[in-house]
Amino acid sequence: MAKKKSETTEKKTVKKKPAKTQAAQGSSGASSGRNKPKTGAVMVVGGGISGMQSALDLANSGFKVYLVEETPSIGGRMAQLDKTFPTNDCAMCMISPKLIEVSKHRNIEIITNADIIKSEGEPGKFKVTVKKRARFIDSSLCTGCGTCYTNCPVQYKAYIKND
Ligand code: SF4
Repeated sequence: MAKKKSETTEKKTVKKKPAKTQAAQGSSGASSGRNKPKTGAVMVVGGGISGMQSALDLANSGFKVYLVEETPSIGGRMAQLDKTFPTNDCAMCMISPKLIEVSKHRNIEIITNADIIKSEGEPGKFKVTVKKRARFIDSSLCTGCGTCYTNCPVQYKAYIKND
């Protein structure tokens, strides 16, 4: 069993510099605006399929992305489905590659089991306070062996949030 980890409160400073184009700066140069390195970070709130795709798009554009999810895992409602309407496609077949891509992306930091406590600032420079609820394990040491699952007294209780 992995080590117990206490509840923590983290503050993340999310800065995003406004993109200045040549037109906005009043210059007539053609290439320097596009060649500027992208800077800053963004926070995506909600780790469902739309949040994951947003995080991937932003991360692939060069932004550092904090993906905040209130439940213990990302995937959202789609991860709980068998098939999707109206095409009857396999939900897990569609979402699984994205789950792996998000979890392995070097520009994405996933923060699950967490709530947004406070958000202050202005467009381009926000400061967000995130409270992580206790997970009672050190997830960096978890190997996914499943021992805790088989011994859990509420193992048949699905995690479904009441809307
Ligand atoms: S899956 Fe295994 S390693 Fe991970 S928390 Fe459970 S018992 Fe510990």
